[in-house]
This record gives sequence, C-alpha cells and structure tokens, in this order.
Amino acid sequence: MIIWKQGPFYPELGKKIVELPINAKAGPSDDLIIIEGFSVEPDANGNFVEGVNREPYSEDDLDAINTYAIIRIVINLYNDLFGKAIKWSWWEKGNKDPLKVRIRNNDINARYLKEQKCIELDFYGPFNKWTFYCRTVDIIAHEAGHAILDSLKPMWENGDTEARGLVEAFCDLTAMFVILKQIDLCEYVIMETDGDFSKNSILTSFGVGHGFDERPNSEIRNALNDKKYIRNHESAYHYSEVVVGLLYDLLCNLIIDNSCNEEIKSVNLRKCGQIWIAGVFNAFISCDSEKPTLVEFGNNLLEIFEEYNDIIKQCLKVRKILSGTV
Ligand SMILES: [Zn+2]
Repeated sequence: MIIWKQGPFYPELGKKIVELPINAKAGPSDDLIIIEGFSVEPDANGNFVEGVNREPYSEDDLDAINTYAIIRIVINLYNDLFGKAIKWSWWEKGNKDPLKVRIRNNDINARYLKEQKCIELDFYGPFNKWTFYCRTVDIIAHEAGHAILDSLKPMWENGDTEARGLVEAFCDLTAMFVILKQIDLCEYVIMETDGDFSKNSILTSFGVGHGFDERPNSEIRNALNDKKYIRNHESAYHYSEVVVGLLYDLLCNLIIDNSCNEEIKSVNLRKCGQIWIAGVFNAFISCDSEKPTLVEFGNNLLEIFEEYNDIIKQCLKVRKILSGTV
C-alpha cells in the first residue's frame, strides 16, 4: 500500500510503500475498517500500489488507501501490545459492524464518533490549497487511537476531564508509537534534532499544518511542553499535554540513560522506544476502568518501570503529579 510517511506538510519525506500482514479487500476494507463511499480495487498483484486498468490510482483513491493503511498499522500495533485481537467497543453487544471512516466531509474537524461507530476526517481550506486530515499520519493515528482505547476502556471516552485527558494523551502517544516503530522515521527524527531530543521533531509535533491560526505550518500540540498538573482543570487537552510531556521527558531520560546501548542513534531511539511503548501502554491498561486519574497513572509508571523509579519520580515532581507514594 502507498502511504504518506508523515503527510503533505513534510514534502521531503513524501510517500512510501508498506506491506501489511493482512489481505485488504476492495475499499480498501476488512472486518474492522471500511472507508465510507470508496470501493478502490486492488491492482493486478492484489496490492494497492500500481492502480487498475493501466491507470494509476487517483488522488481520491490514494487518500482512501492511506487512511486504511494507517488505521491498520495502528490496529496491528495494539494487537501486538495487547496480545490478542482488538475488537471495537460495540462488538461487545453483538454488533459486528466495522469502524466507518469518512474522509470527505467539508469541515474543520477530525474526530471519533462512538455512537456512529465512525472516524471523521474532514477537509478544509484554503491556506494555499485544500487541507485534508486524511493525509496527515499523526491525525489518522490519533483518531484510530480513540477507537482502540474505547474498545479497551469504554467508560473513558465520555468520562470526567482527567479520564478524557488520558484518552487524548493515549491518542497523541499512538502517533508517537507509529513513528517509533519505523526505522526510517527514527532516522529522520535524529536528522531533524541532531540527536538532541530537546529539539522539536516529527516525534514531538502533532497536527502540523492543522493549527488554529493562519500559519500554514502551525501545529495543534507539542510533546515539548512544560504544562503542569492542576486539580480540576476544565480542559482535557491540558491534562493530555501534561501526560504526553511527562512521557516524552521519560523517553528522553531512557535514551540519555543509554539503557538500550546501541551506537547508532536511530537504532537506539527505536530500541528505547519499544521499551517505552510497552510500559506506557501497560500504565494505561492498568488504570481504573471508570475513573482513572493522573496520580494513578503516575503510580502505574513507577510500578512498571521499577528500575527507572528515580527518573520517574523526578518527572512526576516536575509535572506536579503527586501522591502519597511519590
Ligand atoms: Zn482526540
């Protein structure tokens, strides 16, 4: 399948071909995903690369292929972490509908609509031309993260502000996980930062090109932040930035600690990244199913990353996430 490596706002990265361990049907679609209104046929080799009837795929077709592939990459990633196949939250009640994905609504929105069993990735514009959410990998990954976490923690999506903050953090982290799984993108992060992780990179920036001002390359959020925990804050996104910032600090410390012992910086980033991803995922899964808190999440991190307790205590202190045990 042909995908954007990160999206059109990184023209130097462009696109690449990925192989997915699943046979997608026309759409592309499978038991878990359907791109609404699209029925793109596979090419003569059964892939979604070359186009059909000697015609290359159109831009619309490629958007459907990109969206499907990124969501499938996210599902496969969590299948591996979870150790069993992810099922959508509505499957519990016997409805086996796939997740619907809308990629052609004209609006400024990207969202997961639990009741409609769908992800919406709109388009809007123009800055210079139309801007499509379905072309930006981290936004697709974020929305897929909502559907995944809703299947694992169904009470959180409409929970209190801290619960929803953890949801939004999980979704931005999903975008980071997707990057850390791919060595070419790890290499790009090293090139962008010169190995200095206190610098901005594709790993830290979310929604580049989709910010809320008129600048064409402004971003929505950044893992490089100094947001602190405030009790009873009204914004779920405030809490999500605290959590993502805290976890990025932890990742940087794991790398500095050189626990992964790889000389090649990109390989080291990827290797430390895998340890970090597994631990972070478990810290989410171990939280209360109804009313999780950031303090609880911090305590889970301390239990899971036992050998890094000093680092984590320091990170939690900086973010003002405190409890009796910290
Ligand atoms: Zn979200």
